[in-house]
Amino acid sequence: MTRMPADPDTFVEEALDGLVLAHPDELRRVSGGVARATAITPGHVAVVIGGGSGHYPAFAGVVGEGMPAAAVCGNIFSSPSAGQAVQVARAVEAGGGVLFSYGNYAGDVIHFGEAERRLREKGLDVRTVLVTDDIASAPAADRTQRRGIAGDLCVFRIAGASAERGDDLDEVERLARRANAMTRTLGVAFSGCTLPGASSPLFEVPEGRMSIGLGIHGEPGIRDVPLQSARELAVTLLEPLLEERPEGHASRVSLIVNGLGTAKYEELFILFGHLHRELASRGIEVASPLCGELVTSLDMGGVSVTLLWLDDELEELWNAPAASPAFRRGAVDRSGVPAVAEVATGADASEEPLGQRTVTAESRRDAALARRLLSAARDAVVREADHLGELDAVAGDGDHGIGMTRGLEAAVAAASALDDETGLAEVLDAAGDAWSETAGGTSGALWGAAISALGRCIDEGGASRTLSLPAAVSAARSRIQTLGGASAGDKTMLDALLPFERELDAALADGRSVADALGRAAGKARQGASDTAALTPRKGRARPLAERSIGHPDPGAVSFALIASTVAEVVLGGTEEDL
Ligand code: ADP
Ligand code: MG
Repeated sequence: MTRMPADPDTFVEEALDGLVLAHPDELRRVSGGVARATAITPGHVAVVIGGGSGHYPAFAGVVGEGMPAAAVCGNIFSSPSAGQAVQVARAVEAGGGVLFSYGNYAGDVIHFGEAERRLREKGLDVRTVLVTDDIASAPAADRTQRRGIAGDLCVFRIAGASAERGDDLDEVERLARRANAMTRTLGVAFSGCTLPGASSPLFEVPEGRMSIGLGIHGEPGIRDVPLQSARELAVTLLEPLLEERPEGHASRVSLIVNGLGTAKYEELFILFGHLHRELASRGIEVASPLCGELVTSLDMGGVSVTLLWLDDELEELWNAPAASPAFRRGAVDRSGVPAVAEVATGADASEEPLGQRTVTAESRRDAALARRLLSAARDAVVREADHLGELDAVAGDGDHGIGMTRGLEAAVAAASALDDETGLAEVLDAAGDAWSETAGGTSGALWGAAISALGRCIDEGGASRTLSLPAAVSAARSRIQTLGGASAGDKTMLDALLPFERELDAALADGRSVADALGRAAGKARQGASDTAALTPRKGRARPLAERSIGHPDPGAVSFALIASTVAEVVLGGTEEDL
């Protein structure tokens, strides 16, 4: 895609820096993303949006007055980290709480979910509204499973306008949900998109055909059909949208035609004209429409059509004044809007340490053991990295070995950067954050959150490790389930973790030593991992290629069993003093 050779590693940062320089009245740079240039009124809600980059003007280009206060910007097509979301939210939060809103993608849900938890722990009121407008991504009965595409803009805009007029968090959240419930999108791709630095597109559409139901991360459509005239295409896209017309809202819509990256504006206008006439012929009035590039997918050729069904409440907000680089309405009254003199970045917006809890000698000793265990786990994963990658390549994206290696290397480095006086909770918190932010995949985010939970829970559990260990493992497992939404039998790491947890609890309850109990539990984890071969994946990236995965164990379950076995060996070989 890039005609001006760019460094893929700095592509996003450089683009954001340039964007802010090009829009100095509207945007400022904050650590982890961009925020509006002016402060939000004290006591108002901060709407924070985000997701991967490569979708301009989503997400950084629709930040401003009457719009979301900030956007968290991940790498191209990949979720920002929890740490980034925390930093961006803290840079704009003004006393009225935070509403996170983003498209429904597994990585975003995990990372923003973790950010929400951390901010709540610090006493902030944080809510989340997921955008689920893409009708091609799941049937109407499973609306909550759908992904978010161009309808993102409708929800973000309405939430931003509601926050700007001073609605409280309950109301901003309610209106954002309502906007999402009233928004439907369907799109079509004519050609694929290419990542910066890559030499071939992520997918291709055969010559003379188009792919209905495109995604915005290079996901191809669900059905390839021959190319159609703009007039035919208008009907093809409109009919399924109208089949899902929300009850009681049948007469007024905002019609939004969105170019995905390389559709010409003239062609978009032609399609818009046909859609407008089709709607009119069905007695549906078009109000406050939009036509242009709103949520793109790098250089993908394609268009999407969104219907935002309006009622008085939504229409007022949809038309309220707005000033962002890519979305404007009316005149924003800038009097009384304070400018932000100092741009908050890095240290200013960073998270506070875990608090001034007293660190016991036992917690320091556990911290030393945790460092040894992390190093041993890293060594084991490095040895098995190729094998884990091969298992992931069967039905996933092949990065599990690389991701686990990177994550554990970062975790070991973060843990050893802290001095010997540091307690277990703080060491595992730092290691978990580093793991989650560096690993890049789903498993890294889950492991990162899990080991943070583990450390806190052991530390809070008091002197007896025999008592606190089962509770801590349960807390860690529950973080994984809350964030990832998987259950037993979905063919994930949980299918090794759950048998591990059950055996550990039983063995400790029987009065066995921690080392003995861990050894038995690790055995169950290995058994659980190998039993996943028979299962069909129901979560994660392997789901769409489920058939191929049958007969092969789940990579995340195998790596869990490997780490559990390594931990058990180290603990068994350790001195009595360790436990
Ligand atoms: P990605 O899937 O993002 O490429 P990895 O390849 O590192 O991440 O990890 C894949 C593993 O993550 C899977 O084998 C599975 O065990 C685990 N996993 C994926 N999604 C979930 C989930 N929702 N809950 C629990 N584990 C999951
Ligand atoms: Mg993978």
